[in-house]
Amino acid sequence: MRPTGKLHLGHIHGALGNWIDLQNNGDYDCYYFVADWHALTSEYNDTDQIKANGLAMVIDWLSVGLNPNKSTFFIQSSVKEHAELYLILSMITPLAWLERNPTYKEMKAELVGKDLSTFGFLGYPVLQAADIIMYKAYGVPVGVDQLPHIELTREIARRFNFLYKEIFPIPESLLTSASKLLGIDGRKMSKSYENAIYISDFGEALNNKISAMFTDPQRQRKKDPGRPNICNVFSFHLLYSSAEEVHEISDACQSASIGCTDCKKRLAGNIAQKMRPIHDRQRYHLNHIKEAREIMEEGNAKARQIARLTMEEVREAVKI
Ligand code: SF4
Repeated sequence: MRPTGKLHLGHIHGALGNWIDLQNNGDYDCYYFVADWHALTSEYNDTDQIKANGLAMVIDWLSVGLNPNKSTFFIQSSVKEHAELYLILSMITPLAWLERNPTYKEMKAELVGKDLSTFGFLGYPVLQAADIIMYKAYGVPVGVDQLPHIELTREIARRFNFLYKEIFPIPESLLTSASKLLGIDGRKMSKSYENAIYISDFGEALNNKISAMFTDPQRQRKKDPGRPNICNVFSFHLLYSSAEEVHEISDACQSASIGCTDCKKRLAGNIAQKMRPIHDRQRYHLNHIKEAREIMEEGNAKARQIARLTMEEVREAVKI
């Protein structure tokens, strides 16, 4: 995950929820890393926050239930072998494979105001390939938008195996369903839209955001019946309120016997209650930053050990 700073509820119901499932189902030995070199591909001219953002992100990982005793967390730039494998893979990756990457043009168009006509940005899927195959990964948890990158990783791994030696397993995509949660303004929840409810939001900050949420536009007055199925507040109730309460709110909304203000207050209370253990852990980790740093150091050492062994095999295969 790129170190974009503190994470929001959309992350819990998208990537992080899936990461926790993979970690807890016992079949996987999971590696999760702070992709700080990837942050450079688009933030190369503004690097002040990358380190702090990485730490804030790891604290969120720990708070939501990712467990360093079960999974390995590390920082990409602390395992220099990633750069070496990236270099070797870049020698065997045809330019056309990168140029036809569908997200390349999309991202360039999306990130307006940033000059992304760089070698690093074009080549970031090669760095991703190195990140993945370094650990001989069986699978990579990704959203549907990342599928072309995994396909590219598979092609690069096959090409390496064909040219030099059968070293790398061909990784599978472990598809994560995208979070259905929208931001408080009804658009995709995103830091850049300033519409996100952060994992760290609580108390007044949380209440204010919930009370600012868009609802069914047809409900101008309390006596207007509402349509919960198109209301963003209701989609949060589905995740944070009991089945009984969801049912009750749905009926009350449609019969106009509950107002949006009350409905939002109940939601804010339910989110606060569900988030309490997460906030407790967050408070603990913010007061024990040294511990989070040690966790990362341990993870770095573990990742380095594997990366070293992989690179010995790679150098031998490439005869260099
Ligand atoms: Fe949405 Fe609740 Fe208002 Fe109905 S009562 S429109 S579910 S906020």
